[in-house]
Amino acid sequence: MIKPFNFHTHSAYDDGKETLEDYVKAAVDKGFAAIGFSGHSPLPFDNEWSIQKSDYADYLAEGRRLKEKYKDHIPVYLGLEIDYVPGHSDRFSDFVEGAGLDYCIGSVHLVMKPGSKDPRDIWFIDGPREGYLEGIDTIYGGDARAATEAYYAQLREMVITQRPDIIGHLDKVAMHSRGEVIDTNAGWYRDAVNDLLDAIASAGTIVEVNTRGTYTGKSEYYYPEKAILAQCLQKEIPVMVNSDAHHPLQLDKGFNEAVHLLQSMGFKRMRTPFFDVSLR
Ligand SMILES: [Zn+2]
Ligand SMILES: [Zn+2]
Repeated sequence: MIKPFNFHTHSAYDDGKETLEDYVKAAVDKGFAAIGFSGHSPLPFDNEWSIQKSDYADYLAEGRRLKEKYKDHIPVYLGLEIDYVPGHSDRFSDFVEGAGLDYCIGSVHLVMKPGSKDPRDIWFIDGPREGYLEGIDTIYGGDARAATEAYYAQLREMVITQRPDIIGHLDKVAMHSRGEVIDTNAGWYRDAVNDLLDAIASAGTIVEVNTRGTYTGKSEYYYPEKAILAQCLQKEIPVMVNSDAHHPLQLDKGFNEAVHLLQSMGFKRMRTPFFDVSLR
């Protein structure tokens, strides 16, 4: 039995439910090896999911308080899931060094149209399906391939220029559209993913196996899907399992199943930013 852990969690400070302390208590109850907080980083424009700038100092202070309070029970790590939006988001190093964060997850939810800085050219890939499809139509003139390539190019630029510890839900762009709008078996798609994975391998970034889609019913697949995990194995890219919990009850959702998949594929270990876990 491998002790579970989770470094991708969202509390009431951003778009999740319950307090940071509720998460720590649940992790202790479930016998976790470690727990990390990864609230959505504050963004320079209005939105409904990230930590508001006015709450940010509180989030950091509460995270630090809990690290200290529970230090004899469970390692608690303070992090952020930072959005990379070229021309708009702050540098990851400013977040990490400015607040003394233990780690960060780098994610792309907002795709900036290449060459543009106009917020109206931002494609939101993680909201309702209608908005996702509308973005492809209005920003990319219906060209789903151009939109998807922009997503992967933005992730690649993030890995190279921002150096996050973990890359969040790598192929989430396919959540709404796999096999319909986007052909994830097409040569151009595999090329876009492959270019990203080469950058990840060079940077030493950890790829999370994000189980959220499977337990919310939004996806049959983990993010990323198995074919991409097979490439990670081949390129010796480190992987870890995270549930992207938005409620303490979701802390270990899908953990054992994802670990079994990694074992069956031949992965020998998982890597978190702080320790390795043998899968043998
Ligand atoms: Zn995310
Ligand atoms: Zn998340």
